[in-house]
Amino acid sequence: MSTQETVFEIKDLEKTYTISRGLFKDPQVIKAVNKINFHVNHGETYSIVGESGCGKSTTAKMLLNIEEPTSGKIFFRGKDISTFNAQEWKEYRKKVQIIFQDPYSSLNPRWTVGKIIAEPLLLNTDLSKREIETKVYEIMKRVGLENDWYDRYPHQFSGGQRQRIGIARALVLNPEVIVCDEPVSALDVSIQAQVLNLLLDLQEEFDLTYVFISHDLGVVEHISDRIMVMYFGDVVELSTVDELFENPKADYTKKLLSAIPTL
Ligand code: ADP
Ligand code: MG
Repeated sequence: MSTQETVFEIKDLEKTYTISRGLFKDPQVIKAVNKINFHVNHGETYSIVGESGCGKSTTAKMLLNIEEPTSGKIFFRGKDISTFNAQEWKEYRKKVQIIFQDPYSSLNPRWTVGKIIAEPLLLNTDLSKREIETKVYEIMKRVGLENDWYDRYPHQFSGGQRQRIGIARALVLNPEVIVCDEPVSALDVSIQAQVLNLLLDLQEEFDLTYVFISHDLGVVEHISDRIMVMYFGDVVELSTVDELFENPKADYTKKLLSAIPTL
């Protein structure tokens, strides 16, 4: 963690979904994210925690430009991403990657592992086939996937191994930020620790910034620098990990803390 450069600055970010309910009823408006503010520093793990439906994934999708904000702004390294030109979007798509909760539904089941990891390179670089292959083998090795698994398909792997495939795919373009949306929530507890440790090692090695999403404060306790707690689209608490665990301010945070299973 070198400097305190700000990677993301989030200003009054809002997302509402309007759901039509047929001809005779007014559409329903869901406030998924309610004008939230936060910033993410280079090299840190910034965690977003809150129970299911509180707006974590919607926030992630707006960071990745998968969803457009209803209002508010996202600044990436000081620049409002909604003003990006084509070249800047191209760069952004390389620099900001995502890992999903369920690697099975996010990995194309008809593609081999090699192709899944190679795709971002095919789409975003001018590397030759051979160079891409070399890079894919390198990254597979780094995340703990054996080289002769290159031609296998996702269903031939365990949940933890599939998440490693997702991590390799996110890593292959040398990103600056990885948004990890509940990356271990679908895994057995013993496997969770392995994947979290891998993410920590990779962060160190590749100087990565993580936005780490979880519904479970226990999962983020040992990996976070700062934590933001969300409740129904609002930020209810935002502090360093030590402060949050020692001296939680919001009642909702206290409730989440008391829900962590003790051994
Ligand atoms: P989380 O990731 O914290 O579980 P989400 O960001 O997925 O929460 O969802 C926040 C709220 O927005 C929920 O009420 C959810 O039902 C709603 N929501 C999310 N995506 C959509 C969508 N595409 N259309 C309508 N409502 C949505
Ligand atoms: Mg979610």
